[in-house]
Amino acid sequence: MNDIARTVHQIARPHGFPSPGDFAVVESGVPSPAPGTAVVENLYWSVDPYHREMMDGDFALNEPLEGRTIGRVVASRTPGLVEGAVVFHRHGWRTHSVVRPEEARELPDFPGVPLSAHLGILGGTGLTAYVGLTRIARLQEGEDLFVSAAAGGVGTATGRLARVLGAGRLVGSAGTAAKAAYLTEHVGYDTVFNYREGPVAEQLAKAAPDGIDVFVDNVGGDHLGAAIGALRDFGRVVRIGTIGQYNTPDAPPVLFNHADVVEKSLRIEGFHVRNYRDLQEELHAFVVPQLQSGRIGLDETVVDGFGGIVEAFLGMLRGQNQGKIIVRATGAPLTAARS
Ligand code: NAP
Repeated sequence: MNDIARTVHQIARPHGFPSPGDFAVVESGVPSPAPGTAVVENLYWSVDPYHREMMDGDFALNEPLEGRTIGRVVASRTPGLVEGAVVFHRHGWRTHSVVRPEEARELPDFPGVPLSAHLGILGGTGLTAYVGLTRIARLQEGEDLFVSAAAGGVGTATGRLARVLGAGRLVGSAGTAAKAAYLTEHVGYDTVFNYREGPVAEQLAKAAPDGIDVFVDNVGGDHLGAAIGALRDFGRVVRIGTIGQYNTPDAPPVLFNHADVVEKSLRIEGFHVRNYRDLQEELHAFVVPQLQSGRIGLDETVVDGFGGIVEAFLGMLRGQNQGKIIVRATGAPLTAARS
């Protein structure tokens, strides 16, 4: 075990796009567990768009950031956390975390499934896609979808799950031609356009000339306006996120034809995945066999080394990830087996 612990703090409120100077890495000795707690040496970290939202005021300055993390218990003073166990917890953005048993969940070791999947399609990212399709859209076989930010973590998971759920035509948007090609060649999308190459409404009209039944929206803005125009009768908008506006809070409001919502009997519904944690086991039961059979593949961008965590976060906001962005400790194990 290393004898230096490193923790990332937010030290300034960004104006628009955040920069490396908004963060500091603070070093200390490795903590010791107090009675009732354990020390976890962290192995995999998730960096997420919601961190950007929380940087404007929810995160305290000069305090450790939080985030979804997988680590191994290396010292314990509680029977609830056994040394050697691999656990999921939310005290992330640091190399070592002190956790109580109720803050950590031991991860199952699914044969043939990499540990990192618990931060992607088996974790909050996959659960978001699963809830969006099964509970909010209530997707029916053969229905046609449009997904924004299709090449990201939620977008790739949505494509993979929609295929297995029997979706019809899958249309996506993404920020580069390389991402568009990846989505059609590997993830199961039928057609993907680059939203930077022209107005979204025009490109969507070409990609889905007969309309769509469901829009899974990770972006907001022009994407949302265009999709409302393209939806068929009884269409649904699944509002997942608004990443197009997190760094531009003064962006103008979305314009769309409000009469469409009535005339086409549309439903627009948003949700927070944290309110659907009870579906975690259902997600595992649905996805793990698909991962094990190879029907669903992993879509990940892995950044090696804790030292890259801030750049990984900023890169994700810039669109440098393909699939779920994950930071991996040097030498991290590939499975959840106890040591
Ligand atoms: P992600 O999609 O893996 O990463 C963010 C992606 O957003 C980037 O790769 C980039 O791809 C795209 N992007 C960045 N700026 C953009 C812009 N101005 N316009 C269009 N696309 C832009 O992140 P994720 O974790 O899967 O999250 C996706 C969305 O879901 C976010 O809005 C997030 O807040 C939301 N979310 C919500 C919940 C919930 O509970 N409701 C849970 C998880 C995530 P391009 O190269 O394609 O631009």
